[in-house]
Amino acid sequence: MATTGPNPLCEVGRRHPRDRHRMRPVEGQEYLWYCSKHTMYAVLADKDDAESVDRGSERELPNGVTGVVMGTGDERQGGVVLYVRAS
Ligand SMILES: [Zn+2]
Repeated sequence: MATTGPNPLCEVGRRHPRDRHRMRPVEGQEYLWYCSKHTMYAVLADKDDAESVDRGSERELPNGVTGVVMGTGDERQGGVVLYVRAS
């Protein structure tokens, strides 16, 4: 498995500095992370893809779960972290 660096911060934690926490990798998925506390996924997306996606739109994740796009996060591995809340 490729090195993916530190796990991304949860989107909720990014907006609430006193609740900063990192997400956990989803088993069997290389660029997908999950926060069970907030049912929030983070997935690595191409920059162009991440810029064109609308907040609030539906998105299917690599593990087959469909969720709602909450916003973008940090750049990493040549792409951008996209936050998706499981619906
Ligand atoms: Zn969280």
